[in-house]
Amino acid sequence: MNSRCALVSKIIPFSCVDGPGSRLALFLQGCNLRCKNCHNPWTIGCCNYCGECVPRCPHQALSLTAGKVIWDASACQQCDACLHLCPQQATPMAQILSVADVISQVRKAALFIEGITVSGGEATLQLPFLRELFSAIKADPQLQHLTCLVDSNGMLSETGWRKLLPVCDGAMLDLKAWSSERHIMLTGRDNTLIKNSIRLLAEHGKLVELRLLTIPDHSDYVEHIDSLAGFILALGRVPVRLNAFHAHGVYGEAKGWRSATPADIASLADALSARGVDNLIYPALYL
Ligand code: SF4
Ligand code: SF4
Repeated sequence: MNSRCALVSKIIPFSCVDGPGSRLALFLQGCNLRCKNCHNPWTIGCCNYCGECVPRCPHQALSLTAGKVIWDASACQQCDACLHLCPQQATPMAQILSVADVISQVRKAALFIEGITVSGGEATLQLPFLRELFSAIKADPQLQHLTCLVDSNGMLSETGWRKLLPVCDGAMLDLKAWSSERHIMLTGRDNTLIKNSIRLLAEHGKLVELRLLTIPDHSDYVEHIDSLAGFILALGRVPVRLNAFHAHGVYGEAKGWRSATPADIASLADALSARGVDNLIYPALYL
């Protein structure tokens, strides 16, 4: 059977931080935002085979053959040296996998997981693959009990969501800033489409979680608290996860940004609660 392929950054067979319960997490390569605070910055770009990482792999796990970078998984020690030096914010370890390849990995984990989450990068940039993968899981008698979720940045049109929703059990979305200006500063793009995606998913009962990331001195949630709370209340009873920024793993100017403390989170939580938004999930840890 021919099956669609995707550029996959990584598969984690058992994850408990990518949605409810234990899940297989599939990270697709490539993103259409450029978040300064991204914690997986090497999933943003795509390799252009410049070859810079090849001689700098300390374990000779990379080679250049016919103009393409080849990754030897058996030699790789997962030291991440290649990720940190890549000028494209890409990884030489990304692999093209078919739906059938991914399904065979899901099958191995199926007894121990509640579902799969496709994340990124931005999962919905590879929409035909995503639809085919979720459809295959739902059509398979041994896998159809697994929930199929997407962890998305929300930059998908209504037409795209309408194609995905029939085979997708839900999505987790971030609203990275309330105002357009602050969102552009943090991510490079306006947030109108993201707000529309959040509303559309909530309308269809498929917004599993809305996430707000507090970045001290940069987030504008408290500044626009009445508008933000009104927006959230209009979604219905959606869980709102409050995440705390920490600089570990980020690149560029965000490296120097202050981490969020319990007090930073409390000031947003209190302001939301005072306006009736009380379905809040607090950070599990602060770094
Ligand atoms: S992963 Fe990055 S550094 Fe390595 S070849 Fe590709 S673009 Fe160049
Ligand atoms: S993570 Fe990258 S640099 Fe490190 S061993 Fe693997 S391929 Fe080489």
